[in-house]
Amino acid sequence: MKKRVVFVLFIIIILAAGFWYLINNYSSISLFQFFPKVATSFATTTNSQVGTTSFLDNFSTKKVRILIVPGHEPDSGGTNFGKLYERDLAVTIGEDLQQILDSDSHYQSFITRDAQSWNPIFTDYFQNNWNQILAWEQSAKIDFLKSTSTISSLEEIHNNADVDDAMRLYGVNKWSNENNIDLMIHIHLNNYPGASKKIAGKYSGLVMYIPSATLQNNTISRPIAERIFNRLSLYNPISNLPVQSQGLEEDSSLIAMGAYNTSNVASMLIEYEYIYDPQIVNPQVRDIAFKDLAYQTYLGLQDYYNKNLNITATSSYNPSVNVYVWNTPVTSVDSNPEDIYAMQTALIMDNDYPPKGKTKNACPHSGTFGTCTRLAIQAFQKKNNIVGESFFGQKTFSLLNEIYYNK
Ligand SMILES: [Zn+2]
Repeated sequence: MKKRVVFVLFIIIILAAGFWYLINNYSSISLFQFFPKVATSFATTTNSQVGTTSFLDNFSTKKVRILIVPGHEPDSGGTNFGKLYERDLAVTIGEDLQQILDSDSHYQSFITRDAQSWNPIFTDYFQNNWNQILAWEQSAKIDFLKSTSTISSLEEIHNNADVDDAMRLYGVNKWSNENNIDLMIHIHLNNYPGASKKIAGKYSGLVMYIPSATLQNNTISRPIAERIFNRLSLYNPISNLPVQSQGLEEDSSLIAMGAYNTSNVASMLIEYEYIYDPQIVNPQVRDIAFKDLAYQTYLGLQDYYNKNLNITATSSYNPSVNVYVWNTPVTSVDSNPEDIYAMQTALIMDNDYPPKGKTKNACPHSGTFGTCTRLAIQAFQKKNNIVGESFFGQKTFSLLNEIYYNK
């Protein structure tokens, strides 16, 4: 009898020691690995507290912390069209967005870099934590690959970041996990494999990526991304590249999405336009177009966090219209592109642009006066019984001023 008790105790001690050894020597094996259901419900609870009810209820008292991540590195990566480099243009859009957020006390924003270098916050973070970032990424990868084998092939389209670039992006994820960031917005401009660097390509429009359902930050990212997507797609075409036709695409392989569950922060990657689109290529339109895109992004954030804006074409206000008065007729030959751009904005809001039967891809918000604009003006004039003006003349712009200026 006594012998038997000793034997059972002996077995218990051996088992306990074995378990202890496993936990201590395989740090990459998380306890959640053994209890996947616990891990899932734990993640869901945390996420919903961060991203939805409790946060929205506190909007008036707690600042929304947003990390703006212009795509690629200061000196490398990203697409280009002639002398236009995506990595530089992404910074301009990012800084425009930061400026708007800084003027609203509900938001606190951070930006990872400018066109020359990384923000010192991140330079220091990478320098002081490089080995930790590498080890953390490895362990996250092992954990994730054990739990799922779903990996999409988006990396084929998007340029593969080299190893150090990739690790800096993982570092951005780690930093945002540790610094109570509520949302990461990655900013890019699109292109496709084989596109010319000199002649505009055949695809156009917006695409946004959010973490797929296999990632823990999917549920907190989607509702915010949907609001921003609704705003952006009101004024801009959706990408007509077949694999991006949803416009709002889920992805699990992009580091920016928190690949291998490396992010517990809401995240989205916005490819605002294709880099060769006319509003980007034309230097006279680019600045106003980028400010517009940044502002539309902000309106989407307000739709989500502030919940007090309606999203219909006519009720949504756009800065390039609200601060704009046309004083002179706009014509196809001698007009300022800013005048044309603002006029197109108003015509979009009035549902005349693009004209009937044309797509937003065929008639972009370009600041260029062509057939699309002429047909849209004619439709607006007809609807409002304006006769005797072939272009955007006195009667037409007076009425648009009346409808959209100081509304
Ligand atoms: Zn990019």
